[in-house]
Amino acid sequence: MAGYDFDLFVIGGGSGGVRCARIAAGHGARVGVAEGRHWGGTCVNVGCVPKKIMVQAAEYGQWIEDAAAFGWTGATKGEHDWSVLREARDREVARLSGLYRRMLEGAGATVFENNATFVDAHTLQVGEQRVTAEKIVIAVGGHPIRPDLPGVECGLISDDLFTLEKRPERAVVIGGGYIGVEFACLLHGLGVDVRLTYRQKLPLRGFDQEIREALAEALAANGIQVHAGQKIESLGAAGDGRIVTLASGQLLEGDVVFLAVGREPATKNLGLEAAGVAVDDKGAVRVDADQRTSQAHIFAIGDVTDRVNLTPVATAVGHALADTLFGGGPRHASFDNVPKAVFSAPPIGSVGLTEEEAAERGPTEVYVTRFNPMRHTITKRAGRRALMKLLVDAETRVILGAHMLGEDAPEILQGVAVAVVNGLTKEQFDRTIGIHPTAAEEFVTLRSPARRVGDPQAAETEEAA
Ligand code: NDP
Repeated sequence: MAGYDFDLFVIGGGSGGVRCARIAAGHGARVGVAEGRHWGGTCVNVGCVPKKIMVQAAEYGQWIEDAAAFGWTGATKGEHDWSVLREARDREVARLSGLYRRMLEGAGATVFENNATFVDAHTLQVGEQRVTAEKIVIAVGGHPIRPDLPGVECGLISDDLFTLEKRPERAVVIGGGYIGVEFACLLHGLGVDVRLTYRQKLPLRGFDQEIREALAEALAANGIQVHAGQKIESLGAAGDGRIVTLASGQLLEGDVVFLAVGREPATKNLGLEAAGVAVDDKGAVRVDADQRTSQAHIFAIGDVTDRVNLTPVATAVGHALADTLFGGGPRHASFDNVPKAVFSAPPIGSVGLTEEEAAERGPTEVYVTRFNPMRHTITKRAGRRALMKLLVDAETRVILGAHMLGEDAPEILQGVAVAVVNGLTKEQFDRTIGIHPTAAEEFVTLRSPARRVGDPQAAETEEAA
């Protein structure tokens, strides 16, 4: 071991890599970490953080409009100043990115501001330097896909939202996944005329069907022009503008087009072949349950493994790996019941099985409530109805899944996720007194199932109050 420069070298300074490096250094390991673009990776720089700030900016626009219904006079919605938002957002991103770097240094890790590539299984080229390490963690994340379409170079990727100099008047967003839905909603909230197109009938494939339907209704009610079930033929430029041609022949025009058709692992140009690290057909590094690659001393964490591509998952896995390697005992982060949020308008929070998955698994009671939140009984704003549902194993009474579309859904679902992860039953939910008046209390006051699914006798029952 003494023959290597480092006990551990982490390639990539994103959420997973930084956590792994920091914890390993805290356990006394000699740690090096390389990042060639920006500390904090996608989440801090071109993902969760700047996106959420823009979502919040969009919400203020709505609140200014809504304030009049509550008696606030003089609160009129003027023009949105993109440059003010951009400056505030970029300042916060820079602060956080700097913090990530300083935390590494504070923990005693050696920081390299360069990309690292494998020379052999224990040697890395980091800029001008060559370093060796006993163990190596690949944490290089992923990047947006550009689909193979004529004129695709006219399209922007999600990273580009955060360098736009000014607000576009009109935008076309392609893709009905997390990024497509979030970008469409936040741009619309900032006053952009948005067209959203995706190839499924409903957005967010993989989410609970009823939530997807309610989201599609909300998108339309809020004024986003949705073109569902559409394939893209091509992209093109027309003067300063952009045109997306759908397979149906319809043309969608915008000042910008965002491609939000998924992300892929950033494994090209890493020299993985030189290290004997195997990848799958999508380029993701193959790992076992211990995050070990095809080389026993090389590990991979986060989006580069293309498992559950969410920041908190990468962080949890990175932390557990550092504890396992240097903290004196094996520890695994669980991939079960990972809670998810989509920062649409209104947002979505979700944990556990969807109704479709629960029905597949066995007899399930489905509790559902839909309501207009108190705030919007006053504002009369459309597109803000909430939908909440619980899926209950009809035999064991264990809560299998909880889903919500509605204001504060991600905040509410974090607490509910603790209960679902720990296998609580419907009766344990019911024993909990609600906090009144909130939307969240609905999760502990759902009295009668709307229907039962997943068994041969499944019969629709009337939803009771
Ligand atoms: P997603 O995988 O979520 O969605 C991709 C979308 O693009 C789907 O609607 C998919 O359709 C569509 N698509 C794929 N290929 C094509 C194609 N060739 N032509 C047209 N449409 C296509 O990817 P995103 O890019 O939205 O986000 C990437 C990942 O980043 C997410 O999966 C998530 O892990 C993470 N993320 C998480 C966020 C959060 O936690 N709030 C926010 C943003 C990103 P189909 O369904 O038919 O395949």
